[in-house]
Amino acid sequence: MSNPDSKPEDQGPATRIIHNQRHKDAFGSPYSPIYNTTTYRFENTAALLDMIEGRSEGYLYTRWGTNPSIQELEQGLAGLEQSESALAFASGMAAISATLLTHGRNGIVCVGDLYGGTQAFLIEQCQALGIPVTFLFRDEQHQLAEHLNTPGKLVYFETPANPNMAILDIRAIATVAHQHGALVAVDNTFASPINQKPLALGADLVLHSASKYLGGHSDITAGALMTSAELAKPVATWRKNLGQLIAPETAALLSRSLRTLPVRIRQHNENAFAVAKAMEAHPKVTNVFYPGLPSFEGHDLATKQMTGFGGMLSIEVEGGQEAAARVADSLKVFLLATSLGGVESLVSQPSATSHHGISREERLKRGIGDGMLRLSVGLEDAADLIADLTQALG
Ligand SMILES: *Cc1c(COP(=O)(O)O)cnc(C)c1O
Repeated sequence: MSNPDSKPEDQGPATRIIHNQRHKDAFGSPYSPIYNTTTYRFENTAALLDMIEGRSEGYLYTRWGTNPSIQELEQGLAGLEQSESALAFASGMAAISATLLTHGRNGIVCVGDLYGGTQAFLIEQCQALGIPVTFLFRDEQHQLAEHLNTPGKLVYFETPANPNMAILDIRAIATVAHQHGALVAVDNTFASPINQKPLALGADLVLHSASKYLGGHSDITAGALMTSAELAKPVATWRKNLGQLIAPETAALLSRSLRTLPVRIRQHNENAFAVAKAMEAHPKVTNVFYPGLPSFEGHDLATKQMTGFGGMLSIEVEGGQEAAARVADSLKVFLLATSLGGVESLVSQPSATSHHGISREERLKRGIGDGMLRLSVGLEDAADLIADLTQALG
């Protein structure tokens, strides 16, 4: 039990996120108003110069990141990952691209499967800018050290990965990277900070698409970086000059979402586990990819580094691509849609959507079978979700 006088860092995540971003306003509102402003007025030129020349703290222009609604959000984001600093962005890709351009300039080594947008940015933009980018398959991890032959590189990965939920060992990869003078960035979107804290396992930078679990309602596009003040500072300059800032109104919506993140994630975890168990027992499902199932390849590692197994899972149905499409099309509660992490359950077929552009041979090498369906398990009643899947499979 936490006592009411305990310091914020001793409190649990739910208490911290509900109470520690609070600004007290003159009217006693429990939460801050939205600062929908681009600019701030100064008393006189001397005060303006004091701020610009760094003698006083203050607000000058919102795109610089100086806006109370955005800074309050960032305080909440930092609290969730227990990082020294956080930066909020207009999208997950804005956070990822600014981070890669800042800390990946000496070369980026990626391990395992990546979100399609990140992979496209690495291939189309980073390589065009002359940044060396290497992609290692998950089973090529042992080659990491040889690709870190010059210091100052960035190791980048996701765990659990899309769509096969493959688990990578954050601590082991961070140890090798640090031995070779590299930084480590982890996209923690699938797990959320409630289920996994990469910084505590040795990562240096944590990224999120806040359009997913952090936002949680499929109604905002946003992103976040959590890291040390030292590593955040140069990224903030890229964000400012690329104009990637989150809007104050979106920041306030995201702050509101964060207050229910711990309780939402708990229910996502519970629902996904129930769905995974039911699918494992279904005769037409040949494989279930869920970190929480003891039969899953990455289960032991997931148990070591995660505190919950998340709301995402994939199933492989008998009969290949067409059979899987028939199941997806027959679902009534699950919506056929891309994205994830919202209160509503979604289904997508990787071979027809996110991984449509790559050859069947490479899909199979990445563990993405023809009959795979990816489920984002929402917050409906688990029994209704299982009944929906059962009728669609029948
Ligand atoms: C959605 C997603 C992103 C990109 O985020 P946006 O908010 O759409 O820009 C990055 N990484 C992962 C793992 C994602 O699922």
